[in-house]
Amino acid sequence: MNNLIKVSILSMLLGACSEHHGVDNSSKAQNIVVSADSNVAGTATSEQVPVDNGSSQTFGGKPSGEDKARDNSGCNGTLLNGVYTEENTTSACEPGQYTVDIDINDSTFGSAKIERSNFTHGEIAKILISPIEGFEIANVSGCGGTLNKNTYETASLEGSCSVEVQFKATGRLMLSFDDAYLESWWEKAHPVLDSYDMKAIFYINADYVNRPKLKEYTDLLFENGHIIGHHSCSHQFVGTYEGDYMADEIERCIDFYKDYNLKHFAYPYGWAGWNAEVEEKLKARFETVRLFNTVWNEDGSTSSRPQLSSSIDGVIINGNWEPVWALLDKAREDGRIVHLSSHGINDSCEASNQGWRICLRDLQLVIDYAHSIGLELGPPKSWF
Ligand SMILES: [Zn+2]
Repeated sequence: MNNLIKVSILSMLLGACSEHHGVDNSSKAQNIVVSADSNVAGTATSEQVPVDNGSSQTFGGKPSGEDKARDNSGCNGTLLNGVYTEENTTSACEPGQYTVDIDINDSTFGSAKIERSNFTHGEIAKILISPIEGFEIANVSGCGGTLNKNTYETASLEGSCSVEVQFKATGRLMLSFDDAYLESWWEKAHPVLDSYDMKAIFYINADYVNRPKLKEYTDLLFENGHIIGHHSCSHQFVGTYEGDYMADEIERCIDFYKDYNLKHFAYPYGWAGWNAEVEEKLKARFETVRLFNTVWNEDGSTSSRPQLSSSIDGVIINGNWEPVWALLDKAREDGRIVHLSSHGINDSCEASNQGWRICLRDLQLVIDYAHSIGLELGPPKSWF
């Protein structure tokens, strides 16, 4: 015989509800509602009975079985064999009006939405936790709950409680390719990127796009969601340029970029071409200005200089990927963005190791590693 009785009691305050907790409310009466599932044993019926504080009330039905003594009121009362006794509490008793407060370490990182604001005794509150792009749930605690994917379920509530939600940045791998190796970008890089649903940035020298086919590849990359960036018209050193760099190397070829939502610039030769005066103008003209670095240290750090990007060309890496993995691991841990830069794509890794290019296998290796440790892939939304 199934002796399990499920009895739930929803109590509500009768009459004027005191808003002042802590005052003497000893004469307050409550409506206690006893309800029973239709398939449980016993004869508990749903009804409302006013119960004065400190007194008992017998309900019409009488539940039987093991669960008969459970107090579900949320007050200090007890339910035994259908008799509910309210303890003589000195503070306002508001059974079934528990709240679950939510504290978020930084609400710009995400949100936490609770299904409603009030809960009755014994209920479970569900909280949907939604980090914004680039962030993840680091920890959720409180109210005895458990996290399942993005939903935090509290334990059966025995009072008001609070849940603490902590978000952290996920970390991200961005890849960019410079100059005008358009055929290899479209034919070789794009399929690999696409298999990870990853977008990349292609910093193009407009003067090099001197055949209709190259313009077609540029269109294809853009139409497939990749970012087209500016890499100057003719790839000269910025720092030693004689003449009006902005007019000659930015505005002169800007027509090439007019259909590509141009926002980003990368220095030709990276740090080697840096110039303070032009830097100011570039920063005013573009949303981001990328300097890349070619130095990799053994510990995975790339340089003591401000770091936006590092090269993964064969001539730099030369088969030693350990510093790159270390940097990606660190980015995952700290929630940082790593921006790795290359040029053309080769089938042969031996050939790639001699030059400013990466082989297809290594490209796949980098993306696969970042993916395997949980880094976000591709530029954040703000770059598009
Ligand atoms: Zn370049």
